[in-house]
Amino acid sequence: MSKKVVIVGGVAGGASTAARLRRIDERAEIILFEKGQYISFANCGLPYYIGGTIKERKKLLVQTAEAMEARFNIDVRELSEVKRIDRQRKVVEVKNLKDGRNYEENYDVLVLSPGAVPVKPPIPGVDSRNIFTLRDIPDTDSIKEFLNEKKPKNAVIAGGGFIGLEMAESLHSAGLKVDIVVAHEQVMSQLDYSMAAIVHNHIRSKGCGLHIKDGVKAFEPEGDKTVAVLQSGKRIPADMIILSKGVRPNNSLAKEAGLEIGVTGGIKVNEYLQTSDPNIYALGDAIEVTDYVSGKPALIALAGPANKQGRIVANNIAGRRESYKGTQGTAIAKVFDIVAASTGVNEKALKKLGKELGKDYITTTTHSASHAGYYPGGKLMAVKIIYTPEGRVLGAQIVGSDGVDKRIDYIAIAIRHRMTVHDMQEFELAYAPPFSSAKDPVNMAGYVGSNVLNGDVKTAYWYEAMNADISRTFLLDVREPSEYQKGHIPNAVNIPLDQIRSRLKEIPRDKEIIVNCQVGLRSYIGARIMMQNGFDNVRNLSGGYKTYSAVEADMKSI
Ligand code: FAD
Repeated sequence: MSKKVVIVGGVAGGASTAARLRRIDERAEIILFEKGQYISFANCGLPYYIGGTIKERKKLLVQTAEAMEARFNIDVRELSEVKRIDRQRKVVEVKNLKDGRNYEENYDVLVLSPGAVPVKPPIPGVDSRNIFTLRDIPDTDSIKEFLNEKKPKNAVIAGGGFIGLEMAESLHSAGLKVDIVVAHEQVMSQLDYSMAAIVHNHIRSKGCGLHIKDGVKAFEPEGDKTVAVLQSGKRIPADMIILSKGVRPNNSLAKEAGLEIGVTGGIKVNEYLQTSDPNIYALGDAIEVTDYVSGKPALIALAGPANKQGRIVANNIAGRRESYKGTQGTAIAKVFDIVAASTGVNEKALKKLGKELGKDYITTTTHSASHAGYYPGGKLMAVKIIYTPEGRVLGAQIVGSDGVDKRIDYIAIAIRHRMTVHDMQEFELAYAPPFSSAKDPVNMAGYVGSNVLNGDVKTAYWYEAMNADISRTFLLDVREPSEYQKGHIPNAVNIPLDQIRSRLKEIPRDKEIIVNCQVGLRSYIGARIMMQNGFDNVRNLSGGYKTYSAVEADMKSI
């Protein structure tokens, strides 16, 4: 007998479930309820339409109800909000938002993909005029209309997540002066601070105001403007404000129906994406997932996982048992002219979870060119990897410009298949001078990780160099004098690499030595020379002066 499947939410997860289900079950009756006017729109493209990179609004509408009905024989009901689930009777109560009529629809299987809702913190004045959030097409239309009609001159972005930063870039490219206001110590929480510092410096270089550790405490109307009043008392009068404080799972229907909710607030599902009621599946931003690396419950609101879960839910409904193995949070964002990407866990999370998980970890940062140095146009990227003492890769972050996307994806696959830094050195990757180097940045990160694990070199970190007690630590800079003069770590002594062998006497043997160069390669060679000459307390500064100076510059600007 054919099943009647009712799906709530017609965008990433819901539409994927519907289309996949039809492809494998021609007889199922499928009804897709979407409370908005549009199904299957491109959420991820909204900031780019606002900024003008995507010119035509219709490009955002990836699939229309008519096309979905024609191709997939799905009963698509837009402007239809599911208000309640009666699990005993297996019916949903639906409100037709076109005529206000309520009706019931029964189901054999119910799928919940209602997404997430923007967090609206209880800040005084948060409902003042000209404050926008961005989640869907109507939000986009309101922002676009405001830009066209009111011609605002400046904007405040409250929040430093990827949507906030994409909006900062879009509004900046539309000619507005932009201030980004962040309550925490950095933007993009998925990055560790030393990587976020590179993003901070870049944002400032674009002429945007960046207010770190200084969240909004109130919004106050003032003439035509709304003033963002920061914790420090600073006041920024703005023509428009984008509230981008993250999202929370849209769990209200599930909660009201008595379905189990996880510790994170997401709808709890089993490995087959079934809720605590086996006739109801849930997916996408609304669910609590298992973090693929830490095994902990997590909320990870990303399009890739939602789409993949849609396929799995459909397979399970059709009787093809398939489990979802967790989300590792692989993400990427363009921030003005640079790209920041991450996958797996970051160091901040491991610091909190480390003991609990019994996971010790090591991090190394390398800076590699996107392609061969002798071929024009190569750009450096910072690659931070995090791995266990056995070498298993737990996480990575990359900030650069060209080629960040493919490198983070290689490492994402390494994490997914529980590979090690030793495996990373063996990856045989496509190379010709315009595309990469014979040793790709991912190979390089693997080599450095392996060197550390093999005991060829020990690693020191920027904060250790910054806080070094020079009565016990000798800071050695092995760059050329011209580089050293342009900027160096306070108290670092300059002995260029090629003079190390002849000047070993100048290096104390009774102190720990932290050796740095620009990115960590020459200092590694210097460390090897010293270690083989009887210096046994030598560490190489991970990421070199490049990482150190990015952090230093950021700290000075805060
Ligand atoms: P959604 O795609 O949000 O769909 C949920 C739908 O359910 C909504 O249309 C909602 O109207 C509907 N709904 C809710 N309740 C009901 C109800 N009771 N009855 C009927 N319908 C209901 N992710 C990335 O990976 N990369 C990106 O670059 C990226 N950029 C983004 C940019 C923006 C501006 C936004 C908003 C999101 C972005 N995301 C990005 C996140 C990504 O869009 C989401 O993770 C993904 O869409 C989640 O899919 P979903 O099906 O869970 O929810």
